[in-house]
Amino acid sequence: MDIRPALANIELALTKAEELSELAKEASGALLAVVIGELKEILLEAKRQCLAVQQGASELEELLASRDQLFKERGMYWRVIGDKKVGGPFCSRCCEDRSELIHLDYHPGAIGHHPQSPFYECRHCGQRFEP
Ligand SMILES: [Zn+2]
Repeated sequence: MDIRPALANIELALTKAEELSELAKEASGALLAVVIGELKEILLEAKRQCLAVQQGASELEELLASRDQLFKERGMYWRVIGDKKVGGPFCSRCCEDRSELIHLDYHPGAIGHHPQSPFYECRHCGQRFEP
């Protein structure tokens, strides 16, 4: 996603346009047509390059927008709208390593012979989180 090739082509097109206005004073129609053809090719290439950069920028914006809706708390991600939790919790390891939202399973814990504190666990990577 580099805009420099497009800028270079636009610069080249401006030089060609300058050349054209000089030629127009004395040159034949046939020669003018050749230079106009070259100018058109350069502009089409610059347009193609700009469209590629625009597409890359749009994809990046979408990715950033979807990330903005996630909020990290105690190592877990929650989907939020404003400051309200609307989904989650999700595994932060899976989200950060593989960009995947894996819903964590809640284990309520146990009392008695084998006491255990409640925890969340990722069924994909096995990571545990304290609520
Ligand atoms: Zn995970």
